[in-house]
Amino acid sequence: MKYIDEYRDAAAARRIAEEIRRATIRPRTIMEICGGQTHSIVRFGVDTFLPEEITLVHGPGCPVCVTPIEQIDRAIAIASRPGVIFCSFGDMLRVPGSETDLLSVRAAGGDVRIVYSPLDAVRIARENPERETVFFAVGFETTAPANAMAVFQARELGLRNFTVLVSHVLVPPAIETILSSPGNRVEGFLAAGHVCAVMGTEEYVPIAKKHRVPIVVTGFEPLDILQGILLVVRQLEEGRAEVENAYARTARDEGNAAARALIARVFRVTDRKWRGIGSIPRSGLGLAEEFAAFDAETRFDVASRTAEESPICISGLILQGIKKPPECPAFGTACVPEHPLGATMVSSEGACAAYYRYRR
Ligand code: SF4
Repeated sequence: MKYIDEYRDAAAARRIAEEIRRATIRPRTIMEICGGQTHSIVRFGVDTFLPEEITLVHGPGCPVCVTPIEQIDRAIAIASRPGVIFCSFGDMLRVPGSETDLLSVRAAGGDVRIVYSPLDAVRIARENPERETVFFAVGFETTAPANAMAVFQARELGLRNFTVLVSHVLVPPAIETILSSPGNRVEGFLAAGHVCAVMGTEEYVPIAKKHRVPIVVTGFEPLDILQGILLVVRQLEEGRAEVENAYARTARDEGNAAARALIARVFRVTDRKWRGIGSIPRSGLGLAEEFAAFDAETRFDVASRTAEESPICISGLILQGIKKPPECPAFGTACVPEHPLGATMVSSEGACAAYYRYRR
């Protein structure tokens, strides 16, 4: 298949769904990791094609959703300072911190700019040598190479007015945490294809073996997702627990060696707190010693800030596949996209936003 429409073909979807139906012997719970996959499932009604024995639950693969509230507060504190140009991807601007959000900082006169690449932030720093430029570096393994490149380039250029507020997270430790939870009911995973395009598949192999779960690398279109579910179901029913790559058009098993090398040079693996879930050991990236001068938390002395989540929001349970958005009492009432209580309603990839948009 070459064209996007072919990956959305309803007749082909029904054929794969029929194969899933034939392959399914007993009830199964499968988690799609990525928020992009969640949106595709809800938008195209992929789950409505499935036999009732298959339950899809939604994973923690939305970077906006899992960026901790205190990190949003740190971003707000930095962006509020005079002389700072704060650069971010647009979807972070409406995420609520403890009291406000970056959009409100901009409305109050803060210089908060939306950029489409971290290299845009480097350019802004070059053009404004008398001011501090800060880039909010969030995301999974997918955005880490470009963010690493921005830091690397800033150093090559000798920029002293450029820093990054790093909130990078890694997928495999999150899968381990979900599988180790006493409430876990996930029996198989659709892994995000774009993460594997960078990192490859080898990190998943020990997880599949240890927890006896199939992990199928999957794309983002409806047929990709159905194909991934079919492969997970076949493995489960045959008693196999392997890593399979169903996204070979983009992801190779070995990943992207150049991108991995750049990430390993600029970043180091750290413990990281996930919004709604808590701290997960070795689940994040921080700047390596060599690039420590580019750390905005240190330059602006905001590292010690702490904050509490809304007691109403259950997005942590949703991100671990324990509950679904309509099970939240605030869904569609106290919490709507215009007045979100949690990040899963704000983010364009958030599960609550997907259900609100397509399923209300
Ligand atoms: S509906 Fe709102 S309050 Fe409920 S889990 Fe989702 S984001 Fe949180």
